[in-house]
Amino acid sequence: SAKRLNSLDPNGTVFAEYTALANKHKAVNLGQGFPTLHVADFIRKNAAEAIAHESLGHQYTRSEGHVKLVNALAKYYSPKIGRELNPLNEIMTTVGASEAIYSTIQALVDPDDEVILMQPYYDSYPASISLAGGKPVIVSLKPKANGVSSSDWRLDIAELKKAITSKTKIIMINNPNNPIGKVWSRDELMQVADIAKEHDLLVIADEVYETLVYSDSESPMIKFASLPDMYERTITIGSMGKMFGVTGWKIGWVIAPPEITRASWLVHQFLPFSVVTPLQEAGANSLEMAMTNGYFEDTTKTYQKLRDKLMKTLNDVGFHPMKPDGGYFIIANIAPFKVQEDFSAYLTKTVGVTSIPMRAFYQKNSHGEVQHYVRFAFCKDEATLDEAGKRLTEYF
Ligand code: PMP
Ligand code: GLN
Repeated sequence: SAKRLNSLDPNGTVFAEYTALANKHKAVNLGQGFPTLHVADFIRKNAAEAIAHESLGHQYTRSEGHVKLVNALAKYYSPKIGRELNPLNEIMTTVGASEAIYSTIQALVDPDDEVILMQPYYDSYPASISLAGGKPVIVSLKPKANGVSSSDWRLDIAELKKAITSKTKIIMINNPNNPIGKVWSRDELMQVADIAKEHDLLVIADEVYETLVYSDSESPMIKFASLPDMYERTITIGSMGKMFGVTGWKIGWVIAPPEITRASWLVHQFLPFSVVTPLQEAGANSLEMAMTNGYFEDTTKTYQKLRDKLMKTLNDVGFHPMKPDGGYFIIANIAPFKVQEDFSAYLTKTVGVTSIPMRAFYQKNSHGEVQHYVRFAFCKDEATLDEAGKRLTEYF
C-alpha cells in the first residue's frame, strides 16, 4: 500500500473495533455513538416519501448540494451565524461530517502545513491531516483536579500560543466536544478567535453536536462563525446524523465563505461527486418542519434525561463520571479499578458493557496519561441503558 497509509493505525478505527467486540460478546454497546432511539415519525415519513416519489430522488443531484437542502440549511443557520448565507456558494453538502472534514482538509492543507488539534479530538482529524501530508500539532484540554463536569476541562491559552509557528494554517475546534461534552464559553472561544486573527489562521469548527446542549450547561452554544470578524476565516461543519439521530444517512455540510466552499467542492466532486439524493430531499423537508415543530427542544430534553440516567448508574458503581454539558457521551474516571488489560475490552468481555478507551482521542505519547478514562455513549433507549445499568450494578 501507499506510504501515506503509514500514518494510520493498521487496526483501523476504534469505533469499528469495539462495535465488533461488543457484537462478539453480546455486550450492551455504549461504545460507538449511534442512537438506538426511535427516529421521529415525521423524519421517517419524509424519507419514505422521497424514496416512493417516482422522479424526485433517484438520480444524481447537484454536486455542491441538493438545492432544497442547502436552502433549508441557509434558512436555519443564517440567524444563528448572524449573516445572510448564500445557499448556492457558501454551503456544500457532503457524505456526513466525515467527508466535510476530509474534503476541507484536502482542499486547504499543503504538505508540511501545521494544523492545531485540541486533544482529546475526534479521530478523523489527525488522519485527514496526515493523509493530506500536513502535520497535526497537539495542544491538550486538561481537567481541573477533582473536576466533575465537562466545563472543568480547559485549554491553556499559553500552550496554544506556543504551538503556533510560521507553518500553522488552521486551528480545529470541536464544540460541543466529543468525547468530553465540553461546551465552549464565549470567553474561551474569543481567546481562540483572537489568536486566529493575530496569526491569520483559518478555523475549522466541528459543531456536529450543536443541537444537543443541555439546560444546565455552563455556557450556551455559540457558533464560532458568529464571533466578531470570524465568519471570513471559519469553516463550520455539521451533520444530519447528529441533528436528527440518523447516523446511517451520512449527510453533512460545510459552511464557509465562497472561496473556501469552492475549494472543498473541488475535492468533493471527485470523492462522491454528489450526496444521496432522496435523503437530502428528506433532510430538507425534515429541517423545515423541525424549525417549527419543537423537535430540537424535545430531543434535547430526551437526551438530557438519558444523560442523567447514565450519570446515576456510573456514579452508583463508582466510575466517577464527568457530567457533559453537550453531545451524547460521558467520560468516566475508572482509576479505582485496577485491571491489567484495556478496561474497555475487559468490561466488554467480563461485564457485557462496551465503552471506548479514551486513548482513541489522544496521540500515542499521551496514552499513559488517559488510561484511567473511558467514554460511554448515552444516545441509547431506556431499555438499553437499563440493561447496561443492571450488568454494571451486579458486577461492581
Ligand atoms: N465530528 C465529530 C466530533 C463526530 O463525533 C462525528 C461522528 N462520530 C463526526 C464528526 C462525523 O460525523 P458523520 O457521522 O456525519 O460523518
Ligand atoms: N462519531 C461516533 C463516535 O464518536 C462514531 C463514528 C464512527 O463510528 N466512525 O462514536
